[in-house]
Amino acid sequence: MEINGYEIAYSEAELDKMLNEQMLPVVLIDEQFEGYQKLQEGDKKALKHLVAAAKIMNEVSQEQDHHMNIVQRKALEKATISSSYAAKALKLFMSLNGVEGLNGLDAEPVEIFKGISGLPGRNFYPVDLTVGEFHKIIQKMLEDGKVDEVRKILSARTMVRRDGEVLKAIDYTEYFAKEFSAIANELEVAAHYTTDEKFKDYLGWQAQALIQNNEDMDMLADKHWAVLQDSELEFTLSRECYDDAITPSVFENSALMALLNRYNIEVNSKDMLGIRVGIVNKQGTELLLKFKDLMKELAAKMPFAERYEQNINKSDELKQTMVDADLAALTGDYAQCRGGITTAQNLPNNDKLSIKTGGGRRNVYHRQVRMSVDKEKNRKLLERLVAPELHRYFDPETDHLFVIGHENGHSLGPDSKYQTGLGQYKHIIEEHKADIVSMAFMPEYVKAGVIDDETLKKIYVTHVVYRLFGKAKPQLSLPHRVAELIELNYLLENKAISFDEDMKLHIDFERFPQVMRQLLEDTVEIQLSMSPQKAKEFIERYSVWSDVSQKIAAVHAELGVKPYKDIKMFF
Ligand SMILES: [Zn+2]
Repeated sequence: MEINGYEIAYSEAELDKMLNEQMLPVVLIDEQFEGYQKLQEGDKKALKHLVAAAKIMNEVSQEQDHHMNIVQRKALEKATISSSYAAKALKLFMSLNGVEGLNGLDAEPVEIFKGISGLPGRNFYPVDLTVGEFHKIIQKMLEDGKVDEVRKILSARTMVRRDGEVLKAIDYTEYFAKEFSAIANELEVAAHYTTDEKFKDYLGWQAQALIQNNEDMDMLADKHWAVLQDSELEFTLSRECYDDAITPSVFENSALMALLNRYNIEVNSKDMLGIRVGIVNKQGTELLLKFKDLMKELAAKMPFAERYEQNINKSDELKQTMVDADLAALTGDYAQCRGGITTAQNLPNNDKLSIKTGGGRRNVYHRQVRMSVDKEKNRKLLERLVAPELHRYFDPETDHLFVIGHENGHSLGPDSKYQTGLGQYKHIIEEHKADIVSMAFMPEYVKAGVIDDETLKKIYVTHVVYRLFGKAKPQLSLPHRVAELIELNYLLENKAISFDEDMKLHIDFERFPQVMRQLLEDTVEIQLSMSPQKAKEFIERYSVWSDVSQKIAAVHAELGVKPYKDIKMFF
């Protein structure tokens, strides 16, 4: 079947399999949800306008992601009226939130239409722009004195297009003027209705940031957002930069980098946008705050703590808020379920002005995402790959505790200057570091009485089974997956875990925390070295896809993996 001149790449039967056997629903809250019922009328109204804003942002992200997304989606929507085949293709499209994407299993991306592939520069850059040409143009523009334009081209908030022989940058607030102004309107209305003064204030700043071509406005919005701890509602405009592969290619061109440094031009990958809307869950948030209380103590226990300044120590007050949220909407970048869906997110990232100027971070945990698990599959996985005496320690709820430790882990260790020093490897090493901070410090939470010994064992077992049992050899573009493979290999090499002749997992509960500590030291040392070469060597050494990984992946494949998500929104 052809959609807008492009043939659907999967047969209807193949789509049936993907949708019926390989897709996991992620069910967000509806109007019957207790937390919603308890809201005051004003906040109920506000929530609906925030969800409306979220839906508009989805259009923005589809445009950022691929130049064919919107035209193909519209054609699919039209074809759906008379074709169940098209309806199925549309469902896959909505899961990827685009025409293509990795599914976390196969090395090659899932491409819904024959002849439409993803591009390294997504739609941030001209579709026919190669890395080589990009570098040449940037170099030429600098030589011609177009320093300000180059600065804009290499900024996180512009779409780049051809302008004759050179390139021009269009600020998001201009390129997406129509959508941003509609979103700003929804935010203003929500601000009018909400009963929460601080939240109202933040929404006002955020609305302004969407209509002014001014990075300072983003900074101010971020700062008002990051301090929200006691609000009833949750709203986040997410800006993350992991999708654009053209901008960071500049880091590998040392001559060009030298030139950019001379002009003091920062290189920041493009931000993919998304919106999350929800209601803060009070009980879940209390647990998070218990973990938070320990962070200062943990900072002092970081390896080589005396050699660097940690983000967390930059002011007396710990500038990190955190909430557990019941979700009403996930759109844009959040809904690009390409090999996974995020269970928590700590923003702003280090490249953002609000962080550089001393602003705090806010971490939001996604209850409905972490509750969407495939129980039957987990049971079979234990039977096949885990020694029987460990089964009682498998508890997916404890993965949440690992995630809390991971997110807090980003605030510990060498600050952003060191992280950036690792060039293109910074994301992998930073995600890896956060994983290891989490695991290495779990015994500290036992000492502090936040969790008990039994829970600690559950965290170890669940972590290995849930996170380290990889489903496929990870691409370097998936930092979290690479980090997990590194951890698996390190634990095996140092005998904290092992597999017997029946391919059943065993854990040495004595060695496990010691090896984690050692791994944390090795990792922090790499960040302190600021050497991309050292990072590369470490990653290459420990991200080997061994026989063990291959066997684990084979079991996953046999039991059936559900790499696709179906986010069900009701507002
Ligand atoms: Zn992380």
